[in-house]
Amino acid sequence: MRSELYIDGKWVEPKKGGTFPVINPATEEVVHHAPSGTAEDVDAAVEAARRAFDEGPWPRLSGAERARYLRAIAAGIRARQGELARLEVIDNGKPLPEAEWDIADAAGCFEFYAGLADELDAKREEAIALGDARFSSKAVKEPLGVAGAIIPWNYPLLMAAWKVAPALAAGCTVVLKPSELTPLTALELGAIADEAGLPEGVLNIVTGFGPDAGQPLADHPGVDKLAFTGSVPTGSRIMAAAARDIKKVSLELGGKSPFLVFGDSDLEQAVEWIMFGIFWNQGQVCSATSRVLVQDGLYDRLLDRLVAETQRIKIGNGLEEGTLLGPLVSKGQLEKVLAAIDKARADGAVVATGGTRASGFNTGYFVEPTVLVDVPLASDAWREEIFGPVVCVRPFADEAEAVRLANDSRYGLAAAVMSEDLNRAERVAAALRAGIVWINCSQPTFTEAPWGGYKQSGIGRELGRWGLENYLETKQITRFAADEPWGWYIK
Ligand code: NAD
Repeated sequence: MRSELYIDGKWVEPKKGGTFPVINPATEEVVHHAPSGTAEDVDAAVEAARRAFDEGPWPRLSGAERARYLRAIAAGIRARQGELARLEVIDNGKPLPEAEWDIADAAGCFEFYAGLADELDAKREEAIALGDARFSSKAVKEPLGVAGAIIPWNYPLLMAAWKVAPALAAGCTVVLKPSELTPLTALELGAIADEAGLPEGVLNIVTGFGPDAGQPLADHPGVDKLAFTGSVPTGSRIMAAAARDIKKVSLELGGKSPFLVFGDSDLEQAVEWIMFGIFWNQGQVCSATSRVLVQDGLYDRLLDRLVAETQRIKIGNGLEEGTLLGPLVSKGQLEKVLAAIDKARADGAVVATGGTRASGFNTGYFVEPTVLVDVPLASDAWREEIFGPVVCVRPFADEAEAVRLANDSRYGLAAAVMSEDLNRAERVAAALRAGIVWINCSQPTFTEAPWGGYKQSGIGRELGRWGLENYLETKQITRFAADEPWGWYIK
């Protein structure tokens, strides 16, 4: 485990010398002391990234040359997959198989963007047909500059990959600020990039708290673009900071995503995907389908099966074989989730199962997977992100009501619809105001496809070719190519 910041290709102590404890959420043990970066370290990191962008080779390399580094980083991640997955479990709490999946996805993300970096060489320039034959014009894609990436704790290495891989592919340089709750694998990414021979200053990693390290990065005039994933209130602060210097900004924020289950759905499949949609990663998933709407007729049977299966979920330390639900990431998150359940009860919701700290654990931030019913539409439990293994289930009568209830939210990250009638599923998918719609499933996420939110769930799209566009500027180069002079002033 690394105890220094990675700045300008070197491992350095934070300038103020502080550290913060990294706590294993399953045991509450302090497993490490991570370096606590502050504004001084952010200054050094941005300066290094600035130099690497303005004077270094990185943005001037061909896409194919950059792709070689991205592939080397992917190989470095794969070579250390087991170790990185275990670090993720110790840091975040998630079950080991989930962490292994995340690490493989992170490597896959670097490989995918290596492919797009290769393609960029051929796609960099595009001739533009003008309506005036005296001119010729082309549009040229160029790297945007220094990117500040601020990420959350729910998928620590994967969220880093979603930003760092496309930024590097585009030719940007990066300052990465991981969450103070999960700094371990991001620091390892620095070591992997270093081993891959990434030129100094191209990737800089400053761990630390939001106000101490995140805010100075957002405020820094040397940063050209901010890429943020996290909560809506912090996203709003990031956007305000970006507004001062008109920094480019992309935001991936929270959600309260609906899952519409029509009466013709297969009961077992519906229960499986509802559970995958809310209990995966302890429900700490921005796109978690936390509002489940079930058509009358299927509702009672489905609720019985959902409650029964939810009660069978094996809760435990993520490193224990067979664990399907680990602890929440932190004491703070546990308290937030329990408070949200208490508030739901006070607002009139009924706990069908769960609703408390998991029994049988003397330590660890474990909470029972929880199903809430009769949740008032105006209550926080229905409207606000809980970010824990808590699902609200509610009946609906017909398609129009389901769509209306689903869209009645300030969020619009994701939605899911389940029906045997694919025409209906497509019609509902079109009507849902969300950036991602799953049909007959919930949550599978692919590096190739665009990811991001409508409404208050964000701005811009990550992943796929859309993710690369986040880190590119478009330059118009227009040439006067006529034989005769222009002749406006000088005839
Ligand atoms: P958060 O907003 O508390 O923190 C996110 C990051 O911002 C952390 O690195 C934090 O240190 C930093 N930060 C905090 N205050 C800051 C400030 N003033 N200036 C700059 N940076 C600051 O979010 P979180 O609790 O880490 O993550 C959970 C949230 O993330 C949830 O709302 C979830 O929905 C969202 N999320 C969204 C996506 C998506 O793709 N849309 C993915 C994962 C998580």
